[in-house]
Amino acid sequence: MSARILRGNVIRDQIREELAEELQHLHGAGIRPGLAVILVGSNPASEIYTRNKVKSCETLGIHSERLILPEKTTTEDLLSRVEELNGRDEIDGILVQLPLPSQVDSKRVLLAVSPDKDVDGFHPVNMGNLLTQRPGLVPCTPAGILEILKRSAIPIEGQRAVVIGRSDIVGKPVALLLMHHNATVTICHSRTRDLPEVCREADILVAALGKPGMVNGNFVKPGATVIDVGISPLTDRAEVVRFFPGDAKRMEEFERKGSTLLGDVDPVSVLPLAGAITPVPGGVGPLTIAMLMVNTVRAARLRRELHAASGSAQPTVPVAS
Ligand code: NAD
Repeated sequence: MSARILRGNVIRDQIREELAEELQHLHGAGIRPGLAVILVGSNPASEIYTRNKVKSCETLGIHSERLILPEKTTTEDLLSRVEELNGRDEIDGILVQLPLPSQVDSKRVLLAVSPDKDVDGFHPVNMGNLLTQRPGLVPCTPAGILEILKRSAIPIEGQRAVVIGRSDIVGKPVALLLMHHNATVTICHSRTRDLPEVCREADILVAALGKPGMVNGNFVKPGATVIDVGISPLTDRAEVVRFFPGDAKRMEEFERKGSTLLGDVDPVSVLPLAGAITPVPGGVGPLTIAMLMVNTVRAARLRRELHAASGSAQPTVPVAS
């Protein structure tokens, strides 16, 4: 038996179609949601991420701006840029691409983004809204994980869920979302004792620890759903062969690019055991940008106190107390 593959690309396309329809209605009403992306310095990965975010806006008909600031930008400079964007009516979402250069006080900058425009959902006000089940903006990757589960008809209510990782960006918010959907949730982290044993209790196992291939068959109950959030480039040939034995496509990619992506899950031992699994790449990743688009449209609506068209992807407003 081999696990059912939960294809994030397919779910992303569904969400984008729904969003395109919703945007048509909004455009018809004279509303064009807008996203501003701030990039500081020249981190190559951040450049690609921000470019993809802007491209995604363009294809959907969301107004977008990419603000590229020099490496030496100070906290004060950045705060005044954010303040200006907070005050502009045509901007509904502000995204500050992380990581910021070391001289910048990232926490102060993120705190300066108006919670109404905080499309990353990182502001403490939005975190508080999520915690207390109030409408707000939910972090994109966790919201995307919930979309994958729901749209793949994976039951959540009453299930045992284990989340490995307790970051503010992924681990904590995804655990809250799962709990709000009535799963019984355990959060594990770097100091958890007997990690594989705890994980083997999971009907839904979310691996968000950033340790490539660490979650192996010993962590997985047969039939469990495994959500692999990690993304790490593998640059060592022996590792590629170990994690993807006999996979000609992977080898060809490795030869061409000098690397290939691996998640936190070891596909060799987990694929035969799990009931369903998200692949890397093409699993959780595609949902992250899709949910950023959803959040931008949601921010535009929330600011104008409009309600969403039914059937559209909503970042997971909790369902029960
Ligand atoms: P992070 O480094 O902030 O947090 C990692 C968490 O894992 C920590 O809470 C830590 O306690 C825990 N951890 C670390 N080592 C562990 C171990 N050996 N055993 C148990 N727990 C351990 O990372 P993050 O920002 O939450 O991201 C996690 C991974 O997800 C990274 O690989 C990141 O690249 C990836 N990520 C992917 C997406 C996406 O769109 N697919 C989005 C965000 C993050």
